[in-house]
Formats: sequence, structure tokens, C-alpha cells
Amino acid sequence: MLYRPIGKTGMSASIIGLGAEHLDHKPYEICEEVIHAALEAEINILDLFMPGTAVRENIGRALKGKRDQVLIQGHIGSVEKGDQYHRTRDLAVCRPYFENLLKSLKTDYIDFGMMFFIDTEEDYQGAFETEFIDYVLKLKEEGKIRAIGASSHNPKTAARVVETGVIDLLMFALNPAYDMLASDTELGDAMEGRLDASHYETINPERYDLYKLCESRGVAITTMKTLGAGKLLSPDFTPFQKPLTVAQCIHYALTRPAVVSTLIGCSTKEHVWEAVNYLNLSEAEKDFSEIIKAGRSSLSGQCMYCNHCLPCPAEIDIAATLRLLDIASLDASSMPDSVKEQYDALDNTASACIECGACEERCPFDVPVIERMQRAVELFGS
Ligand code: SF4
Ligand code: SF4
Repeated sequence: MLYRPIGKTGMSASIIGLGAEHLDHKPYEICEEVIHAALEAEINILDLFMPGTAVRENIGRALKGKRDQVLIQGHIGSVEKGDQYHRTRDLAVCRPYFENLLKSLKTDYIDFGMMFFIDTEEDYQGAFETEFIDYVLKLKEEGKIRAIGASSHNPKTAARVVETGVIDLLMFALNPAYDMLASDTELGDAMEGRLDASHYETINPERYDLYKLCESRGVAITTMKTLGAGKLLSPDFTPFQKPLTVAQCIHYALTRPAVVSTLIGCSTKEHVWEAVNYLNLSEAEKDFSEIIKAGRSSLSGQCMYCNHCLPCPAEIDIAATLRLLDIASLDASSMPDSVKEQYDALDNTASACIECGACEERCPFDVPVIERMQRAVELFGS
């Protein structure tokens, strides 16, 4: 397993994580099978947004004696209404659900207290302009949560949440199809498979700006909907010319700025194994670039951080270099130290470029790499 640091928290997450949604309303044996398979694969991060006591207790039972092996994202404001989950900021309702989470998991702390589902202006105000935020901050002060996070599907609202400086972790709905949805398109329509390929044309700048903002502010992203609820794997539902594989979806997510872990929903141990098999695959097997690009001239010039352009004779990690350049370019006048540090830590920086042009010939997205390398030298000084 590989691990990435989660912002300034001192914690690190496995690059493949577990989303527990598919364990809801399942017998204990299934929870145990999946959670133990995940721990055996050295997965160390688990998202648990479901409010139901039964699934929480099943997960707690499966984690008996193993609690310290896993970072838990536990959501505050996720409550039951009928047989469905629902979001609320009403503390009279939220508080007992959080206490129930600790009790069901038989723990006295949650690693990431996630402010649940902040998508709309109303959600934002409910979370940050009421006593809800005071409650979350108090939980942190009391050590009942180690760090604060939030979940969102909306890039504009998520960026506002990041700008507050309160959170260390953002759980965000991220996959190549969502990244290509126009700003005015309803994500719900995409999630329900109601959109055809024409809705997925170019990169949505609000979404990419969010990822870059997170990286520059030291806010880590964990991804949900990494496989597009399975639709990206299906020849019947994919918006691309052919389905992506699980590994290609994971690789796409892991190569976006700020992403530390992809949380994959698993309902069998085989699902866990398929996800972690990502670690055994070659770069060619994980490469998503050709599938995403096919038939989309609108993507020209936009680096997708896929490294399809390698090998580079100067041994430059082109995707990493251009990703850091994009983040630094978000506000070149005040580049965060962490971005410069990451750049300086590269084995070979842009100044090593011999301008051979081999990468430009191979890049499916027509990125003017040599020009970008020159810009990187100007900006980073090496
Ligand atoms: S330059 Fe092109 S091939 Fe290389 S990482 Fe960027 S998009 Fe991929
Ligand atoms: S042009 Fe520069 S970055 Fe591209 S392959 Fe050649 S040396 Fe590497």
C-alpha cells in the first residue's frame, strides 16, 4: 500500500480507502468480510456517513481490537428520516447521532469529524452561520474528533468551505465524467445516468480550481463516486467511447491535485481486492488518457496529469511538474511554500528539459509541454 499525508494533520491515508455505503442493510458477516479484507490489504481509511445504528454497530464489531488501524471519517449532520439518510444542522438531532456513532463503534474519538453534505448556499449557512460550527469546533477541542472535514458535491460551495480555513479534509465527488460537466449541469442528473455523451465535453474550471485551491491551502481531498456509481465501468452508461476500468478511474482521481485517497464502495472482499490490485498494475494499464480524449477536441491544451507523454529523456515527471505549475499559477504572486517544496523535491525539475519535443508528440491532449516547462522555470526558479 502507498500512503499520502493528510494536509497538516500529521495523519496519512492509504491511497485506496473504503467507502462503507454498500455495507448498509447487510448482515454482519458481509461487513466483517469487507472490513477485514480492507485491513489485510493495509487500507487505513474508512468513510462512514450512514446514520443507521445497525451498520454502525456491525462496523464497530468488525473493528474490535483493530480500531487504531483505521482512520474514520464520521459524518456530523447525517441523520435518518424514514429509511433514508437526510442532512440537518439541528443540534438537538445531530448531537445524539454523533454520540451514537462513538457508542456503536465502541470508540471515544473519530479521526475526521465531517460536516455532512454541504452543497447549497442553505447548507453552507446552516453549517457555518449557526451553532452547528461551534459544536464541531467544540468536538475537536474535546478530542472527540481529531480533525475537521466536510463532504460536498458542489465545487463552488466546497471552495467556500475550504476558504474558511476550518477544514483539513474535503470528501468530494470526483471522477472524469463529473469533471467534464458544465457548471450549470445538475450533478444529480449525471449520478442518475440521465445525461448523454454531449454533456461531457470539456474540463469544468470550477472543479479544477477547487482541486488546486485545496492543494495550495493544504486541504486534502478524499474522493467519493470515483467509479461514477459503477456507470463509468459500464458499456451501457459510460459517457466515453468505451468504459473505463476500476484502475483507470482510481488513477484519474489519484492524479488530481490534493487527492490523497480514493474511497471505493465495496460489498465483497473481491471488490476490495480489485481496487487494491491498482497497486500491481503498470502505468500503461492505469492510463486513462486515450479514453477520455477520444472525440473531444475541446480538451486540447489542458494537461490531464496522465503521464502518457513519458518517457522523458531528462527523466522529468511531466505530469507532476505541470500539476504543480497549474497550482502555482492559480495565484503566482503568493505561491504557498508547500507547492514550492514539492517542486524542489522533484528528482528533476523543468530546467532539465532539453526541448526534444518527444512528449508533445505523444501527448493526446496537445499540451505545449516545452512552453510550460519554460514557464515552470520562470515561476519556480529551476
Ligand atoms: S502533457 Fe499530455 S500526456 Fe503529459 S501528463 Fe499532460 S496531458 Fe498527459
Ligand atoms: S521536451 Fe522536455 S519534458 Fe518533453 S520529453 Fe523532451 S526533455 Fe522531457
